[in-house]
Amino acid sequence: MNNKIGHMMCPLCDWPVMVRENKRSLSYFSCDNCQVQVQTRGADSDQILRRKMKPITDPDQVPDKLKEAETAPTSQPAPKPEPKPEPAGGQDDDWDI
Ligand SMILES: [Zn+2]
Repeated sequence: MNNKIGHMMCPLCDWPVMVRENKRSLSYFSCDNCQVQVQTRGADSDQILRRKMKPITDPDQVPDKLKEAETAPTSQPAPKPEPKPEPAGGQDDDWDI
């Protein structure tokens, strides 16, 4: 597969997109939301795109919306997962003390 090198917001629709690197080490991205595709064709445009993106050094830095877009390519923004509600009473605890 292609190398993921960073992420940024789509300049057309402000959707988070994954920036990848092709076989010639040129950066490019395609937007799952508006289907725009940007492919750099040389070192100059490649450097501009790399300056605009946020490099991936840690998978946790990838926005949740983008991670979900990777697995489920829909145009609908996925809702953030709700935090698990705290048990109110405590009698249903699974704690084995
Ligand atoms: Zn877009």
